[in-house]
Amino acid sequence: GGLLVYAESNVESGKQIVEKNQSEPEKKKRIVVLGTGWGGTSFLKDLDISSYDVQVVSPRNYFAFTPLLPSVTCGTVEARSIVEPVRNIIKKRSGEIHFWEAECLKIDPENHKVFCRSGINDNLAGHNDFSLQYDYLVIAVGAQVNTFNTPGVMEHCHFLKEVEDAQRIRRTVIDCFEKAVIPGLSEEERRTNLHFVIVGGGPTGVEFAAELHDYVHEDLARIYPLVKDFVKITLIQSGDHILNTFDERISSFAEQKFQRDGIEVLTGCRVNSVSDHFINMKVKSVGQHVEVPYGMVVWSTGVGTRPFVKDFMEQVGQGKRRILATDEWLRVKGCSNMYALGDCASVDQRKVMEDISAIFKAADKDDSGTLSIEEFRDVLDDIIISYPQVDLYLKNKKLLAATDLLRDSEGNEREEVDIEGFKLALSHVDSQMKSLPATAQVAAQQGTYLARCFNRWDQCKTNPEGPRRFKSSGRHEFLPFGYRHLGQFAPLGGDQAAAELPGDWVSMVHSTQWLWYSVYASKQVSWRTRYLVVGDWVRRYIFGRDSSR
Ligand code: FAD
Ligand code: MG
Ligand code: MG
Ligand code: MG
Ligand code: MG
Repeated sequence: GGLLVYAESNVESGKQIVEKNQSEPEKKKRIVVLGTGWGGTSFLKDLDISSYDVQVVSPRNYFAFTPLLPSVTCGTVEARSIVEPVRNIIKKRSGEIHFWEAECLKIDPENHKVFCRSGINDNLAGHNDFSLQYDYLVIAVGAQVNTFNTPGVMEHCHFLKEVEDAQRIRRTVIDCFEKAVIPGLSEEERRTNLHFVIVGGGPTGVEFAAELHDYVHEDLARIYPLVKDFVKITLIQSGDHILNTFDERISSFAEQKFQRDGIEVLTGCRVNSVSDHFINMKVKSVGQHVEVPYGMVVWSTGVGTRPFVKDFMEQVGQGKRRILATDEWLRVKGCSNMYALGDCASVDQRKVMEDISAIFKAADKDDSGTLSIEEFRDVLDDIIISYPQVDLYLKNKKLLAATDLLRDSEGNEREEVDIEGFKLALSHVDSQMKSLPATAQVAAQQGTYLARCFNRWDQCKTNPEGPRRFKSSGRHEFLPFGYRHLGQFAPLGGDQAAAELPGDWVSMVHSTQWLWYSVYASKQVSWRTRYLVVGDWVRRYIFGRDSSR
């Protein structure tokens, strides 16, 4: 059945399908992992493969340390320094993990198969199609750039998502300078060639703008003295502020720093289209359209779902959603034995209010119809695990004791509560629900979490570790996934970085850059890449960046 579906929808005539690994009978459960980014790699690193047969499919046979991609665009760090071959990562384990360099084209949940194509990176050799059978599928394919269907973006803009993108940007920056110094150009033409535009004021766009500014002023200005005063960097943001997922203090600090540095920040502007020489944008405040000539545009406005994941969502009844949904155990909703993590999926949190009666019943152990303070305290621990928004609520309200929820309007502590009082106490907690950000931090923690579940499967079947089950969909052998936010960085150029750390700690001094260096050095996947990255940083300090094309 699966093959037929595939043949109808995907295979060009004459391409044959090869079934792999179907010959010998298998005892071990088969796990197929799609993707070797942050999510997939952290899963593979922590998975105990003594009881599983694991196969990995990814079109790139390396892991890329994405937080350093903006540094690759300007040669602060070399591309080779931030990638680690997948085969290095998987060979360390006791036993064998198979890796196939291929792209997954289709998932067939009914027959537990994925259909893949190899050879897509190779224009000459042609490609090969094969399928894999799984008992468990782990989808960690990340997301793709989102152009919001803006005309011309695909054709004329650069992206900053993959290692190749960063290398291409690096070459184009130099090309722009070389074009700008050609004799006989008007000043206007030189200015246009050296107008670098970044669309999107998120962390990636901001960091790239800062990197480029440093590159231009620290290195290129010396080599191209003729045109150094014609360089302009513009950041276009449709919202009112840049870095709007960060603390306000960081966001305004970044805006002020950019202003001092001469990076123009245009907020409240929406790009309508991009042609080979102009960006057409709308200035929201005045409703006017303007044409902006450019030398290079980097498009960095968030991410969208990959087409084959969209097809899969259609198949499992999630067609109306924007992004693949999982439950708190990272299981794909509407499927069995399938998991999704990282940027390609989002955890669908349940509201406390949906389950409030069930929670109350479970808490009221003596069936008295009311909860005593002890009963309330006791159930709250389980509620906090199952519904992370409760913890956030308590923290944001700066409540020292959870029982403060039970105070009446005069501020007196109640002795006991009935169901109405209980509903009232928790009525505002769901306002704190927010989806997890699309970050490496989330993907890596999810990978580690899922590996731990697989490693402890048998143990937890007999000895559940999960909280009390309040809801029918819940699973109580495992704790649900809980995210620990360890803070975020925004390098702003000039050896300055802003850091936002847990506990409302915000730091924007010069030494923050060193904190950033040490955190990123310590987060490298291997000693090899750690050595290379630190070496690149030292080289840059001593010799500056390389400016050959
Ligand atoms: P990815 O890491 O994107 O991995 C997806 C994997 O799936 C890749 O190996 C890909 O080759 C593979 N794949 C794609 N299609 C298929 C297919 N059809 N079949 C099989 N495999 C497929 N996050 C932070 O927390 N901090 C930062 O400082 C930070 N900086 C960033 C800077 C940049 C420039 C970028 C682009 C991102 C940054 N991020 C940062 C975000 C972070 O990189 C992502 O959130 C993270 O990579 C998500 O992990 P993932 O495993 O879901 O996806
Ligand atoms: Mg991944
Ligand atoms: Mg990655
Ligand atoms: Mg996600
Ligand atoms: Mg009671």
